[in-house]
Amino acid sequence: MTLRLFDDAPDRFEAQAHVLSCTPREGHFAVVLDQTIFFPRGGGQPCDNGTIAGTAVLDVFEENGVILHILPSPAEGEVSLRLDGERRLEMMRHHLGQHILSAVIDHTFGVPTVIARIEDAGPHIELASPLSEQQLVQAQQAAREIIGKALAVHCAYYTPEQAKGMTVRGKITPHERIRLVEIEGFDLNACGGTHCSDTSGVLELVITGTKMVRGAFRVYYLAGHAAQKARPEREGQLLQAQHALGCESASGLLQAQQELLERQSALEAQCQALQKALLEADTALWAARCRPLAQGRMACAILDEGDVKHLRAVAEALCQQAPTALLLAVRQQDKLSLLFMRSKGPKEPNLGAMVKDLCARFDGRGGGSPISAQGVICGGADGENALQQVFRAAEQAWEQPKAQ
Ligand SMILES: [Zn+2]
Repeated sequence: MTLRLFDDAPDRFEAQAHVLSCTPREGHFAVVLDQTIFFPRGGGQPCDNGTIAGTAVLDVFEENGVILHILPSPAEGEVSLRLDGERRLEMMRHHLGQHILSAVIDHTFGVPTVIARIEDAGPHIELASPLSEQQLVQAQQAAREIIGKALAVHCAYYTPEQAKGMTVRGKITPHERIRLVEIEGFDLNACGGTHCSDTSGVLELVITGTKMVRGAFRVYYLAGHAAQKARPEREGQLLQAQHALGCESASGLLQAQQELLERQSALEAQCQALQKALLEADTALWAARCRPLAQGRMACAILDEGDVKHLRAVAEALCQQAPTALLLAVRQQDKLSLLFMRSKGPKEPNLGAMVKDLCARFDGRGGGSPISAQGVICGGADGENALQQVFRAAEQAWEQPKAQ
């Protein structure tokens, strides 16, 4: 059994230890020590970084109650352990910050924390139900007051019977010995993590955002130096947002955002009405450009500009009105975008086969059904000549009366 030095001395960053075993594991070595300062990852907290006998530790985790230190090379005998102390301190600040934030939210709003993580998406807690922005700000303020009070933090072990009689926030995982972390006069919580000796060690706490995740309300936060850095950054971002929205004060931001949304929705409605009018006008325009043939009206053209999506809507409208065939190509730099469509009924021409053939001959891609096809081919004089021939073939097919 490895002595867990971090339990009683979380601010100890150096120690000597004896290697109890060293076994190959997935290309590396799993080292068991008689004592360790390395906190193993788990419960949403990453492991410590550092070195063992001068070699960088790749991972530390617990397996069947044994702490394994993963090293790239084997270790034996007496070894010196050294932690990345600043990282450990930041972990402790975030972790104790989480205790405080979860406790104030639980005490003030009766909303328990269901998950707490420092790794992955950034430090966050997940709550059983959402809080309003005002409640979050209230919780942040209350957490800062607890940090300012420098309340002592004590860790002690109890039997399950002893713990049963105590008012503990959150769940207690069944164990022979239960480690309870007390923030004096404020909170009692079962936890195996590393904590600052008093709440002032957290330095600062900032709630940075929220998100609904699988029905839980996630609250992102920062503590320690990260929070001290984030606070002025967030103030700068607020001023930037005010500048962008033309607000003299932050209190005008919501109103400005509401006005923007209303303006956007009015513009979208206007845009839809204009698109409808344009579709009607262009449908009439192309109806006038169609030549009457034995099997229906037809227009074939190579255009210098045009939105293929819009032309497709025009073609669909024309084909619904009356027997129609529209064979269009739009020049786009050195390419031609093809849009061929006709009404159902006649067997010929097979527009899909025509587009496929053009694509095969002019390095293009595309295809479709006998009545609707799209594609892109390389342009140039040869491509356009071939396209004109296709247009003539389509016209000839419709100049003949419908076969009985
Ligand atoms: Zn803890």
